[in-house]
Amino acid sequence: MNKIKMTQKIVEMDGDEMTRVLWKMIKDELLVPFVELNTEYYDLGLPSRDATNDLVTVEAGEAIKKYHVGVKCATITPNAQRVEEYKLREMWKSPNGTIRAILDGTVFRAPIIISHVKPAVRNWEAPITIARHAYGDVYKATEYRVPGKGSAQLCFMAENGKKWCETIYDFECGGVLQGMYNKDTSIRSFAHSCFKYALDTKQDLWFATKDTISKNYDQTFKLIFQEIFDSEYKESFEKAGIEYFYTLIDDAVARVIRSKGGYIWACKNYDGDVMSDMVSTAFGSLAMMTSVLVSPDGNYEYEAAHGTVTRHYYRYLKGEETSTNPVATIFAWSGALKKRGEIDSNDNLVSFAVKLEQACIDTMEDGIVTKDLALLWDDGEPTSVTTEVFLKEIRKRLEA
Ligand code: NAP
Ligand code: MG
Repeated sequence: MNKIKMTQKIVEMDGDEMTRVLWKMIKDELLVPFVELNTEYYDLGLPSRDATNDLVTVEAGEAIKKYHVGVKCATITPNAQRVEEYKLREMWKSPNGTIRAILDGTVFRAPIIISHVKPAVRNWEAPITIARHAYGDVYKATEYRVPGKGSAQLCFMAENGKKWCETIYDFECGGVLQGMYNKDTSIRSFAHSCFKYALDTKQDLWFATKDTISKNYDQTFKLIFQEIFDSEYKESFEKAGIEYFYTLIDDAVARVIRSKGGYIWACKNYDGDVMSDMVSTAFGSLAMMTSVLVSPDGNYEYEAAHGTVTRHYYRYLKGEETSTNPVATIFAWSGALKKRGEIDSNDNLVSFAVKLEQACIDTMEDGIVTKDLALLWDDGEPTSVTTEVFLKEIRKRLEA
C-alpha cells in the first residue's frame, strides 16, 4: 500500500503515564501503517522536562509557531507529590500553561458524540464547543480580608504620575475586598481566536458577559468583540452563513439548555471554568472531550482534554489489563493531520483524518467500547474491550 505523504511537519509532543503508552499504540496501529508521518518530535514527558530544565517545552511552543500545527499528549503538571515521585529538581510549571503563554491562544473544547451515550440535556444533538478566555479576572486578582472599619479605595497611578481614586466602600465592619484586571491585548487575542475558529469550523459564535451590571469591565469585552467583528469578520461570517451572537450570560445559559447544540460558546475566564465542566459532564465522558489551542495569528495545537489517567497507568505497570479510552487522543492526531492537510492543500491527508475519525465512531456505534463508555451506555449491552482490542477494531474499519 502507498503511504500518504506529508509535505510539511507537525510538532509532536509526547507526554506521560497511560497517555504516553496510548500515544505509541495509536501511532503503531493507526498512523504509521497509513501515513509517512512527518513530525518534529519533542519529549514533554516529565523526566525529559526535568533533564532540560523545562527548555524542551519552550522549544516545542516555538516550533508550533514555526510549523503552525502541533499535537500534544497529556502531561503531568507536577505537585509536591510528583516532585518526590520523580525526584524532580524543581516543581516545573504546567506545560499547557507555558505553551499557551507562548502562543497567546484560546482553548476550544468539544465533545465527541455517539448515539448510544445520551447527553443529560435531552435536546442537545450536536456538540457545544466551549472557548474559555484563559487570562486574568479573578484568576489574577489581588484579594484582601478587610479587618474592620475603614475606607476601601480603587486607585490607578498613570505612567505620568497622575493618580485617580474612587471609593469602593466605606466599611462599618469587617469584610472582603478584591481587585482584578484584564488587558485589551488579551481580550483582542481572545476575540480573534474565537472568530477564526468559528470560520474554520463553520459554526455560530455566541459570546456572553454581564455588561448590564459590570458597565465598564464586562462592557469592554462586549465592545472589543463587536468592534473586531464589524471591522474584520462580518463579511466572512456572512459568506460562510454563520452568525456572531452576543447576549447576557444568564440569558445565554437559558438558551444553551434549550438549544440543539452545534455552536461555539465563548466565555470569560470564570464562566468558562464553570461552564466547561457543566457542558462536558452533561455530554458524557471526559475521555471523549477534544481540545484545541488556537492562537490569534493562526497556530493550532491539538490534544485530549483529559489527563494522563494515572490510576490506569499504575495498573498497567503491574501488568494488569487496562481499558483506557484512546478516542480523544486519536482525535487530537486526526485534528492535527486534518489541519496540516488543509494548510498544505493535501487532500489525501485530510481524507485520511476524516476516515480515521469515522472508523472510531463506527467502532463505538457498533457497540465495541472501552469500560468508561460501557458504564454510560444508554440502550442494550455494549462489548467492553481492552485498549489493544479497541484499537485493533478501529484499524479493521479503517482498512475497510
Ligand atoms: P485524568 O488523567 O483525566 O483522569 C481522571 C479519571 O478520569 C481517571 O482516573 C479515569 O477514571 C477517568 N479518565 C480520564 N481519561 C480517561 C480515558 N481516556 N479513559 C478512561 N478513563 C479516563 O485526571 P487526573 O487523574 O486528575 O490527573 C492525572 C494527571 O494528569 C495529573 O498529573 C495532572 O497533572 C495531569 N493532567 C494533564 C492534563 C493535560 O496535559 N492536558 C489535563 C488534566 C490533568 P477511572 O480511574 O475511574 O477509570
Ligand atoms: Mg474547572
